[in-house]
Amino acid sequence: MVNFQNTLSFAQQLDKEDSLSRFRDAFYLLKKNDKHVIYLCGNSLGLQPKTVQAAIEQELKDWAELGVEGHFDGKNPWMYYHHFLTENAAAVVGAKPVEVVVMNNLTANLHLMMVSFYRPTKTRYKIMMEVSAFPSDQYAMETQARFHGLDPDDAIIELTPRAGEYTLRTEDIIAKINAHKDDLAIIIMGGVNYYTGQAFDMKAITEAAHAVGANVGFDCAHAAGNLHLQLHDWNVDFAVWCTYKYLNSGPGGTSGVFVHERHANNKDLPRFAGWWGHDEKERFQMKKGFKPMQGAAGWQLSNAQIFPMAIHKASLELFAQAGMENLRKKSERLTGYLYFILKDFSEHLTIITPTNPAERGCQLSIIVKQNGRKLFDYFVEHNVLPDWREPDVIRMSPVPMYNTFEEVYQIGQILKKYFEIN
Ligand SMILES: *Cc1c(COP(=O)(O)O)cnc(C)c1O
Repeated sequence: MVNFQNTLSFAQQLDKEDSLSRFRDAFYLLKKNDKHVIYLCGNSLGLQPKTVQAAIEQELKDWAELGVEGHFDGKNPWMYYHHFLTENAAAVVGAKPVEVVVMNNLTANLHLMMVSFYRPTKTRYKIMMEVSAFPSDQYAMETQARFHGLDPDDAIIELTPRAGEYTLRTEDIIAKINAHKDDLAIIIMGGVNYYTGQAFDMKAITEAAHAVGANVGFDCAHAAGNLHLQLHDWNVDFAVWCTYKYLNSGPGGTSGVFVHERHANNKDLPRFAGWWGHDEKERFQMKKGFKPMQGAAGWQLSNAQIFPMAIHKASLELFAQAGMENLRKKSERLTGYLYFILKDFSEHLTIITPTNPAERGCQLSIIVKQNGRKLFDYFVEHNVLPDWREPDVIRMSPVPMYNTFEEVYQIGQILKKYFEIN
């Protein structure tokens, strides 16, 4: 562990020692009135890789010059497009290629996975999730319960922090799983909670849920490209994630799905199918009778969305070059430095994200004791862009791909000025 120092020269030294520093140049950094903006919203919408434009232009060119024949004769034939992303996407989440497919959007994929992995019976029908989960996940679970004729208030069990605490304790999650050993059908949680920034112990949760006979899914929207995930080894049943947050693949970007290899050839799993999930060799024979492709690819519905996937393909190449393990190592240091800098202001603000680096990713969430919105606005005026989440949290996510230790140091300087006058 480094002994951090709150000086410019120390921060610059850490940047010098950073073996990933070259990746900052691979992104368009923001400017406002010609001044550099410290971007801390990689948890919400990652910055644009410079390689994206050429990647899209390639597909536009093939479309313009080849028309429908681009499906087979394009530089990256559209017919097979998802294959070109699978390997790099799998490496980001710690999966085997057969376990991953890129398709659709996150919430749509969450519903598709629930069709396969949430099959309530009369006695085993409960869904366990974090209290105040991301709203889309709440609505998805509420309507899944209703779809099966269940009352969401009865079917959904919420995990709630202890009184006076902001985050969940693993021991409490496991105790609750065990308390519901007879009626729990599925546990579905964020890999990292979007609000508190808490990273859950996915391995321990999966083990505990499997031990009572429940399935486990993780919404890795805030975990993919952030934590060093090991979805295969952790034995998770399924996971879904979006690609526009830490994975820098553009607004409304495509999504990823993980289905564990154990389920790869299970044709008995109910699913909602489409032609793109059908055995590739026979896809264009237009025959009756659905034959799923092996693994996650068998959950595909529609022909690939080439443009969002072209962006994601370009972005994933940067992750392949940097390596998720290296990114995570830098991230622990970078966010550790932000934590150290913020600690000086404990009198004015509370960091609700866990202190232990293993229990968080890039993001730190802070609650300002007085008028948080005013501090947020001050940041924006001073060319720092964190984000604001109702009712009272400022989220700050220095990301290892393009943020620097010097930027983190500068945040401390701005806070110092603010609290001198407020
Ligand atoms: C960002 C996020 C979403 C967004 O869902 P989309 O379908 O991509 O709009 C859903 N769930 C969680 C946990 C998120 O963090």
